[in-house]
Order: sequence, then structure tokens, then C-alpha cells
Amino acid sequence: MIKFLDLKKMNLAHREAIEARLLKTFRSGWYLLGQEVKQFEQNLSQYIATKHIIGVANGLDALRLIFKGYTALGFMQPGDEVIVPANTYIASVLAVTDNNLTPVFVEPETATFNIDIAKIEDAITKKTKAIMVVHLYGQAVFSEQLKALTEKYNLKIIEDNAQAIGAEWNGIKTGNLGDASGFSFYPGKNLGALGDGGAVSTNDDDLAEVVRALANYGSEEKYVNKYKGLNSRLDEIQAAVLDEKLKHLDAENSRRREIANYYSQNIKNAVIKLPQAPQDEKAHVWHLFVIRTPQRDRLQQYLTDNGIQTLIHYPIPPYKQQAYAIYNHLSFPITEVIHNEVLSLPISPVLTDEEVKTIVDVLNSYQ
Ligand SMILES: *Cc1c(COP(=O)(O)O)cnc(C)c1O
Repeated sequence: MIKFLDLKKMNLAHREAIEARLLKTFRSGWYLLGQEVKQFEQNLSQYIATKHIIGVANGLDALRLIFKGYTALGFMQPGDEVIVPANTYIASVLAVTDNNLTPVFVEPETATFNIDIAKIEDAITKKTKAIMVVHLYGQAVFSEQLKALTEKYNLKIIEDNAQAIGAEWNGIKTGNLGDASGFSFYPGKNLGALGDGGAVSTNDDDLAEVVRALANYGSEEKYVNKYKGLNSRLDEIQAAVLDEKLKHLDAENSRRREIANYYSQNIKNAVIKLPQAPQDEKAHVWHLFVIRTPQRDRLQQYLTDNGIQTLIHYPIPPYKQQAYAIYNHLSFPITEVIHNEVLSLPISPVLTDEEVKTIVDVLNSYQ
């Protein structure tokens, strides 16, 4: 069977180095807010070219903390609006509603699955404070037009960079395009920990300071609490693993690109729509390779029968979830077509040429 994602193989590819770092951290006797986190934050901030990186417990917390930080700084208050793509993972929306902010959904573009920047201005009201862009499936979304909108209406751009670490837009890394960004190091992400992890990036000194405090009980000095914070810290042991894996991120993203190119050039089946690759290949890190077909469920069953595991990202949009019953009446036709037709093929740095070829052959034989 070809697994959708072979996490074991992905981590064992760096076995010796990771095991050495794990052992060192274990033996150090220091497990939170120490040298490993500091070093990883420094290396990641150098990689992204952003002034601040704050390690936190997971990707959802990274995004929640950004909104909590802007609220603590007085830039946002409950009831304000945040524009979000209608087709995203629910975490993007939870981060907004968890801070008593109101999500305003905007349709994506079918070609890129990313928010349709041309439709954002119509969704802006007097209450809008931020636009959350999600670099979905690993593809950067940004434009000068988007930047101009934020200047015109005094909005923040918050990036959900959970899926696109290493991607670039015009030579600038995602996570350094907007005002603040959330990263996830969930094991299956392009930079994955051995458990949960996340980070906030920003060039804003005030936001960085408040987010760092909020993630540690709202405290800058032990037992002195400036804000009502959370306990959301990145473990030393996860930071050590991530710091080691960060060294290989570019090479692993290149391998993903190679596989994506092979799929794009060789999958030839009239019922399958391939994802559009960006002109600048660096704009995509192929966290997921997502095809579309109106026969999605039938094609998925066929692939399963042929030993190829696939997943659906995502079967139900956030506003159609039971958790968001108040938004269930909303209708976003483009989003709904996407959710009904998408299917994610296996893609990872450890997929072999032979496996990739098998997947293509099986897809090309589908009738
Ligand atoms: C994975 C993911 C998150 C959340 O990250 P966690 O670390 O699982 O909390 C947020 N947004 C998107 C788009 C994601 O894919």
C-alpha cells in the first residue's frame, strides 16, 4: 500500500541527528523555555527573515494569540470583523471566534484554492480590522492590491502559514508578508514536530512582546501577570527536533516540487483537473497535491482498491460545520464545489519515484 503520508519514514530519514538532539535535551534537565527554544526561534527567524519568532504550543494557538495580542494592544475589540477565506481548515476561523471577533467569509479562486483578493474589498465594513490569508495547500497568496487595501482601510494582514513554510512571494517568505503569521509544526506539516508545536512571526515589537507574555500566562516576570494569558509554550524537546529538521526543509520542499511537477506533466485523464502550479515555482511548497473531479468519491474508492491512500482536505467548509450553526445558512458556491470535488494525492519528501509513477499509472487507467 502507498500511504498518504509516511511519518515514520520522514522522521527516520534524519534518525541519527534527531536522536542525538532528543538525548541531549533529555539529559539537560531543562524542558521548557530554554536554550533549544531560543536557538530554534533564532534559526527560524533568520530563515523567514522576520524580526521575531515566538514558539508556542500549536498552530491554532499561534493564530489565537495573534488576535489576543492585537486585542490586548487595543487594535481590535470584541465584535470587530476579520475577513477569512470560506474554504479553509476550521482552525483559521476558530482563532477569530475564540477572541469574540466575527469572521466574514470570502470565496476562493478555483484555480489556486486561495482567497480571491479581487472579492475582498466588497466584504470590508467599518468594523473590519484584519484580513486573514491562508496559504492553502502550500501556495503563497499575496498581491500589491492586497497591501494597498490594508493601507486604504487601516487593516492588519494575518497569515495562516500552517501549510506553506518555506514558500515565497516575490522573494519574500510566507510568514513575512503580512503583519503577523501563525505556523504549525503538527507532525504532518512540511516542518513537523514529534507532537504539537507552533510559532508566531512578526516584525512588530509591541505585538511580539505581548504575544510572548500571553503564551506564558500573560507574564513577563515570573508570578507577575500583566495580561490574562494562556499556557501555550513550545517544548524544548520539540524545538530541538524542529531545529534539526529545519536544516532539511528546503531540500524536502524541493523534492515535493519535483513530485508535483511529475504529477502535473504525467497525469492525463479527462475527468481529473490538476492544480495550477504558480509561475514562480518558489510560491508553492506543495504541502498537499490536490486534484479535482466531480466523481471524487468514486475515484477515491478506486484508488483505495488499488492500494493508494488519499485524503480529502476538506470535506466540509467551516461555515457548514455543526460548530458554526449560526453560519450554516450561508452559501458560497465556489467553496462548495471545491469541497465536493477535491482529493489529495500522496505527496511527501520520502515518496519514491516508483511510487509516484505507480500513482500516475493507476490514475491514467481510471475510467
Ligand atoms: C494545521 C493547520 C492549522 C492548525 O495547526 P495545529 O498545529 O494543528 O493547531 C491551522 N490552519 C491550517 C490551514 C492548518 O492546516
